[in-house]
Amino acid sequence: MRHRQHDLLAPVPGTARQIHSFHFGPTSANEGRGSKTAYIQASLHADELPGMLVAWHLKQRLAELESAGQLLGEITLVPMANPIGQAQVVMDMPLGRYELETRENFNRAFINVSQRVGDEVEALLNDDAAHNLQLIRASLQQALLAHTPTTQLQSQRVTLQRLACQADVVLDLHCDFEAAAHLYTTPEAWPQVEALSRYIGADASLLASDSGGQSFDECFSLFWLQLQQRFGERFPIPQGAFAVTIEHRGVLDVSHAQAAADCQAIINYLTHLGVIAGQAPALPPLRQPATPLAGVEPVTTPVGGLLVFAATPGQMIAVGDLIAEVIDPIAGSVTPIHSSTAGLMYARSMRRMATAGMAIAHVAGSEAYRSGYLLSP
Ligand SMILES: [Zn+2]
Repeated sequence: MRHRQHDLLAPVPGTARQIHSFHFGPTSANEGRGSKTAYIQASLHADELPGMLVAWHLKQRLAELESAGQLLGEITLVPMANPIGQAQVVMDMPLGRYELETRENFNRAFINVSQRVGDEVEALLNDDAAHNLQLIRASLQQALLAHTPTTQLQSQRVTLQRLACQADVVLDLHCDFEAAAHLYTTPEAWPQVEALSRYIGADASLLASDSGGQSFDECFSLFWLQLQQRFGERFPIPQGAFAVTIEHRGVLDVSHAQAAADCQAIINYLTHLGVIAGQAPALPPLRQPATPLAGVEPVTTPVGGLLVFAATPGQMIAVGDLIAEVIDPIAGSVTPIHSSTAGLMYARSMRRMATAGMAIAHVAGSEAYRSGYLLSP
């Protein structure tokens, strides 16, 4: 195991933070690598901690596998991807989703360098897909190294991108508020990600090519898709990387039993992909078919009040099913909130005082009906 530290830009002198990365298995080189490589990070939303415990289990298992000579490709692990957010505890509340200074979501606005890389490689592409892959990867790395961040937040984002940009598979470990296990990836990557959904036992697998926020997973998936769209008719451009955001249930689901099971699921998946040597266990059944992210209904309440849920995460919902009641303790009114969509309710809010217009739960419908920006704020 190799431990590396990456200094972030300090907003004022004397307040430096670092990202710590742990590298297992053979060192990847751009040229001539025989096996797929993987990058895994946890808690980019700093108050989402189930993934950090999965990373803690992974760190030990990967060290054992490395000692046993079982790692065929390099695996990079960043167990705390957001030291800025980790330090944001305000009046006894951890606030790890948005940076307090800018109010920006930590998992949005990663840099898109596909235009620059495309311009740089255009004259050098040829009919050899392996040549194009290597060329684009080298240019991607150079573009990210050349980027000069001017704030601590930008510096954190580009540091993570640099660490992940050469990996074949990128796993970003998150969780929802109260939720069943689910994941986000692209339709293009789904044939390769389905095995992960099976091993992890995901109740929902939500697919979108571009959900509009330039999130961490999409800054890799979308990069290759955009180059394929630009050059695909003239040159073979492989899908040089695919990325998955895994939602390890809800924020309070931090337990050794669950984390060890999720760790094993990720190891099984990396074995299935050939990053780890050996025979992967038989694939468990897919719990639910993948559905479009554009088919998700954010179930909202038109009124504020005390929120009393009737439905629980993991529950299959029919059109018109009661999701919750919103009680106005002054007027005495009770407003039932029903789902307009059939599908699996995979997540619900942790708040119990609803505000008017608030999304209280998410139901994974099978028909796409939304467009534009598809993510939560
Ligand atoms: Zn998250």
